[in-house]
Amino acid sequence: MTIIENTGRGPACPICNSTEYGSCGHLVADFDRTYGECLGGEIYDRQAEFSDLAERAFLLHLNQKTVLSVKKWGLDELWEITLGKFDPDEEYVELDGDIFQRVLIALLKDSGAFDVREGLIDPGGPSMTSWVSLLFADDPSKVIDMAINKLKIELH
Ligand SMILES: [Zn+2]
Repeated sequence: MTIIENTGRGPACPICNSTEYGSCGHLVADFDRTYGECLGGEIYDRQAEFSDLAERAFLLHLNQKTVLSVKKWGLDELWEITLGKFDPDEEYVELDGDIFQRVLIALLKDSGAFDVREGLIDPGGPSMTSWVSLLFADDPSKVIDMAINKLKIELH
């Protein structure tokens, strides 16, 4: 269960103030930053749309041996790491999960989502504590559509 580290209390949705933030309809994303996992929110079923776009664009440039000029949201770092790990004998690229998650969060925030400012943790047990990021918006699916469009533009 996610709590605010300083107070030990559960976080509330910053839009409607509900402590049932998983079901109030405003949750864009619930990310476990320590394990690089998406735990919920509107993005849960749509995260692959983002990774597919990035993987396809990266692979195209890697196969053509052209440089992808990207700067926003830390995409340049994701590109550099992917470039360094690329095996020309393989037909696919694998995105670094941590960096991809950072890019996704920056992109979602740039598209109108906002995060809970307090430090959030999920104290799973001794040495199992996760760092958590929660993102919210009035209309989560609109934010995700906008983020997809922004990513498409940046990758072209
Ligand atoms: Zn809400």
